[in-house]
Amino acid sequence: MAKFIFVTGGVASSLGKGIIAASLSKLLQARGFKVTNQKLDPYINVDPGTLNPYEHGECYVTEDGQETDLDLGHYERFLNIRTHRENNITTGRIYQNVIEKERRGDYLGHTVQIIPHITDEIKLNIQSLDNGQYDFIITEIGGTVGDIESLPFVEALRQMKWEMPERVLNIHLTYVPYLAAAQELKTKPTQHSVKALQQAGVQPDVLVLRTEHEISASMKAKVGLFCNVGAEAVVQSIDASSIYQVPLNMQSEGLDRIVLRKLGYDLNEVPEANMEAWKQFLQKRQNAKKEVHIALVGKYVQLHDAYMSIRESLSHAATYNDCKLCLDEVLSDELTPENVSKRLGQYAGLVICPGFGTRGIEGKFAAIRYARENGIPCLGICLGMQCMVIEFARNVLGIPDANSIEMDSETAHNVVDMMEEQKRVSQMGHTMRLGAYDCHLQEGSRVHDIYKKEYIRERHRHRYEFNNLYRDIFERNGMHCVGINEQANLVEIVELKNHPWFVGVQFHPEYSSTVLAPHPLFLDFVKTVLH
Ligand code: GLN
Repeated sequence: MAKFIFVTGGVASSLGKGIIAASLSKLLQARGFKVTNQKLDPYINVDPGTLNPYEHGECYVTEDGQETDLDLGHYERFLNIRTHRENNITTGRIYQNVIEKERRGDYLGHTVQIIPHITDEIKLNIQSLDNGQYDFIITEIGGTVGDIESLPFVEALRQMKWEMPERVLNIHLTYVPYLAAAQELKTKPTQHSVKALQQAGVQPDVLVLRTEHEISASMKAKVGLFCNVGAEAVVQSIDASSIYQVPLNMQSEGLDRIVLRKLGYDLNEVPEANMEAWKQFLQKRQNAKKEVHIALVGKYVQLHDAYMSIRESLSHAATYNDCKLCLDEVLSDELTPENVSKRLGQYAGLVICPGFGTRGIEGKFAAIRYARENGIPCLGICLGMQCMVIEFARNVLGIPDANSIEMDSETAHNVVDMMEEQKRVSQMGHTMRLGAYDCHLQEGSRVHDIYKKEYIRERHRHRYEFNNLYRDIFERNGMHCVGINEQANLVEIVELKNHPWFVGVQFHPEYSSTVLAPHPLFLDFVKTVLH
């Protein structure tokens, strides 16, 4: 029987609940426990697949094809495990399930209500993870306590705490602001946030105070006293230079010890957390001096979270190549054939980002042409790969109106076409080609050398594909289709032979790079960029 740990947040959003949850999981995992993380999102969308990255940051895709919150990416990167559909639940999905049950007649004769029907459905979705595989299920409730939207989730937490007091624990993360003029840290917002939680019937067991300055023992004791939490269960989470530092900070604050003790473990019988490999990774990162300058060419560049997994994958690869990643985002809308060498001249490598729709597409072509003609290592991901194909058709094969059907439904030269199965799709939600599929790698290709495997499995999220009618002419002119999904005869990877490193992938390698298992494609890309 698993223990359930809930992470709630107060005072402000974006305090890093996901990172705190992932850090605690890491520490428990490093003590030998089996742990999984779950994210509850209070919005009505059934999944974030239909959300713009500006609204929500990156949409992360699990191997089983669920479009999820980007926190699942953190969980996978920290824990080096895979998450699944049940690791991310939204209000929309809860309501959808309940309404389907109501239509089926499951509640026949009863009025369907938020309590107990919605809250029961929430509890069911949390407890379904308790399938014998895990010692701890760490569930993060999105939003901040007091929001109307997250109330049913907090109520589910209250009920679970009441029903299984010895198996359920709540960690509440708040913010302690520093007033520069008064040179003082202020705990009042934390007190109010805990009051809001208590009003919902939940007494937090542990408080994590996010802060920019050290919080003294006496301040921790004061917060503890006001909030009915022992001083020993109040810890600080001070701003860190890297998210990967946070597990070690939480370890020195004793978060895992506090949690275990509160859940009835005898600490003498639990092994200490072995964080050696993690520390080595961080040391490598801190010692790296040499810089590697890479540009991320995309259209969601003003928002840091939009390409989260690509950034993290590149940063893992840089660390394992003993260098420091200097990553700049370049807005593709602003790139033109005229300014591209000036705008991209200082970068030793380019990543062409995934995406949807026409905005910024011409700038991506300009960047790709510049990389192709000047021997600059270039990795194209999903739409980035499709853009590589279109650029090659236009400028090498001499088909000036080559395009993707996505960008021009009338184009006579649809080198990127809609997948056959997509032509029957009418709804937008959860209908792309999603999740992990096999890909066969051609012997003698660069990617075969990189992966050192005949078959790989990578995650997808797309509706369009390389048009096989053009395969011969591409191959004859030097763009090779070296990765194929054999079931669908779908081109997964293209690469150029006469180029230091020019690879386009239809899949998303960024979803599967982790701290302790960096992704081979990013490793090789960064290695080439460095030399
Ligand atoms: N818009 C493209 C497609 O749907 C690429 C998607 C992506 O980059 N994730 O095929």
